[in-house]
Amino acid sequence: MLSYRHSFHAGNFADVLKHIILIQSVEYLKKKDKPFCCIDTHAGPGRYELDSEYALKNREFDTGIGKLWNCNDLPELVAHYVSLIKRFNNTGKLTRYPGSPLITKQLLREKDRLCLFELHNTEIKLLTAALDKDKRIHIAHADGLNAGLKLLPPFERRGFVLIDPSYEIKSDYQQVVESLAAMHKRFATGTYALWYPVVDRRRNQELEHALQATGIKNIQLFELGIRADSNEHGMTASGMIVINPPWTLAAEMRQVLPWLADVLGNDGQGFCRIQTLANE
Ligand code: SAM
Repeated sequence: MLSYRHSFHAGNFADVLKHIILIQSVEYLKKKDKPFCCIDTHAGPGRYELDSEYALKNREFDTGIGKLWNCNDLPELVAHYVSLIKRFNNTGKLTRYPGSPLITKQLLREKDRLCLFELHNTEIKLLTAALDKDKRIHIAHADGLNAGLKLLPPFERRGFVLIDPSYEIKSDYQQVVESLAAMHKRFATGTYALWYPVVDRRRNQELEHALQATGIKNIQLFELGIRADSNEHGMTASGMIVINPPWTLAAEMRQVLPWLADVLGNDGQGFCRIQTLANE
């Protein structure tokens, strides 16, 4: 049974990087007039109340969006991200945080589609309630890796797949590689973004090697850490591995990630990694 609830973590430093890359990837697809399809395999509950008991337990949003909320000198991409989050907080105070489904929904055009999958019995109800009826959006209580695969290739032949697992089950690390290989086989031109935490660096190295061993080309990694790797419990960094990234993304991240590492890092310990895992 799944027990992970993202409400404890919403708006933390990991969400900042994840959602900036989500926004930039969708914005890039919008540069062409043709419609596209977004698939969010691990959608979560859709939105988060930052004044709830869950979010206030560890105040993780203070490590991420909270540090950016009142900054006046944000780099352009970060300013765009913060302005999207501000649309959910019309009093000016930070009390709400949209999840990936609501962020993507804001960016969709009339002709684009969004398919959302969530497996947790409570989260799927919250997700359905958080998204008003919208003919562009399809929500299913299902395993997003299997169900998402069946949607590929989308009829639009243009698409973005966000894979944002909780890694509650250790086999998730292997499962995401197998799923990405299968998805890429069916839809080789799609853009895929896989989120990962850094809790035990060996697992990340294995994940990166396993992805390289699939033979998939054009893979970029973007990582943001707030403190050095450690043997102690807890996430020190997180990243996104992007297959077929927008060609502008690496240059954008080279500008933004060092800034984020500086602003979000703990006592000067912030760092970032930008790496090509596989060439085009
Ligand atoms: N993407 C969300 C966001 O950015 O707001 C957060 C998602 S959270 C990290 C991961 C979610 O995946 C949890 O809500 C969990 O219940 C769900 N989940 C876990 N395994 C799943 C699976 N196989 N298929 C669909 N959802 C799954």
